[in-house]
Amino acid sequence: MQKGDLDMQATYRALQITAPGKLELVERPTPAPDPGEVLIAVEACGICGADVGDIERPDITANPPRVPGHEVVGRIVAAGAGVPSVWAIGKRVGVGRFGGYCGTCDQCRQGRFQLCPMKPVVGATCDGGYAEMMVAQANGLVSIPDDLRAEEAAPILCAGLATFNALRKSGAEPGDTVAVLGIGGLGHMALQYARSMGFRVVAVGRGQDIAAEAMRLGAHVYIDTRIDSAVERIRTMGGAQAILSTVGHSETIAALLPGLSPRGTLVLLGVGADPLALAMGPLVGGERRVIGSLTGTPWDNERALGFSALTGIRPVIETMPLERAAEAYQRMKSGDVVFRMVLTMKETHHAHQ
Ligand SMILES: [Zn+2]
Ligand SMILES: [Zn+2]
Repeated sequence: MQKGDLDMQATYRALQITAPGKLELVERPTPAPDPGEVLIAVEACGICGADVGDIERPDITANPPRVPGHEVVGRIVAAGAGVPSVWAIGKRVGVGRFGGYCGTCDQCRQGRFQLCPMKPVVGATCDGGYAEMMVAQANGLVSIPDDLRAEEAAPILCAGLATFNALRKSGAEPGDTVAVLGIGGLGHMALQYARSMGFRVVAVGRGQDIAAEAMRLGAHVYIDTRIDSAVERIRTMGGAQAILSTVGHSETIAALLPGLSPRGTLVLLGVGADPLALAMGPLVGGERRVIGSLTGTPWDNERALGFSALTGIRPVIETMPLERAAEAYQRMKSGDVVFRMVLTMKETHHAHQ
C-alpha cells in the first residue's frame, strides 16, 4: 500500500446508521485500502433523496453499521496494490451512487457499467461519505475538475449526473421543448442542463414559491399545477419532445403523458411505490416511449462535471458540518432545504491542504 505525506490520523469520525432512521456520530480506526481500493479524505458529501431509503431501511446485518452518502468529493490519501497510477496520492476525486463495477459480466463487457449486477451501491452495500474518511474501489472513481469547489461538485455526482444523462438519452434535440416535472434536488439541475443544451425548458411544479427560482435556473415557462393544466399548456406550445420526471407519484406522471409529442420520450428518474398506469392509446398512437434512467458510469460523471464547469452550472446548496449530519438529514427529509444539503468536513479539508 502507498501512503501520502498527509499525516493520517489513527481514527476518523463517521455517521453510522445504528438503527433504522438513526444516525450516530462515531470514531472509527482509519482503515488501510485493499488491492484495487483507495482511501479518501472526504471534503464534502451531498445528502440525496435516495439516502432516505438507505437510512430508514438499512442492512441491519452490516457490521459495523453502514455509513450513508453517495455524493462524495475528497482527496486520495492512500492507495492499495494494483491501483492505476492515474489515481495518485493527493488527487481530487469523487464517488457517486455506484462505486465501481466487476468488469467481466455481460453488461460491463458492453460498457454499461451502471447496469453491472455486482456494482457496489455506495451508502447501501458499502460505506459512503458521511465521514471524514472513506474507502472506495478505484474503478468507480471520478476525476474532479479544479475549478469546482468540493461542496459544489458533490451534488453533481448523483443529482447532476442523473439529470444530465437523462437529457442526453431523451432523444430531444436543440430547439425542442423539454418539460421537467418536480423542481427539487434533481429538477433544479435538470432545468440548468436543459437550458444550456438548447432546449425550450418547461418547469412543472406545485405552488408559486418556487416559480421565480425555476425561471432563474433556466426555465422559459413555469407551470404551477395548482393553477394550470400542465398538459394543456404544454400542448399549446406544440407538445414536449421529452418529459423528465423527478417525482415518484405515479398519477402525477401518468397525467402528463398526453403532453408528449409523437415520438416523444418520458424519462423516469424518480421512483415511487405505486405502479405507473399509462393510457395505451397515446403510447401506441404517437409511438411515444417511456424509459427509466439511472445515474451513469464514471466516464459519464466526468462528462457531467466537465459540462457543469464549462457552462457555469452549479447546484444551489446549503452546507452543514459533518457533526450536524443528523439534523441536516432531518431538514432534507422534511423538505426544508431549498435544493441540496451538503455536509462539509472543514477541519479535515484544511488540515490537509
Ligand atoms: Zn443520489
Ligand atoms: Zn459487471
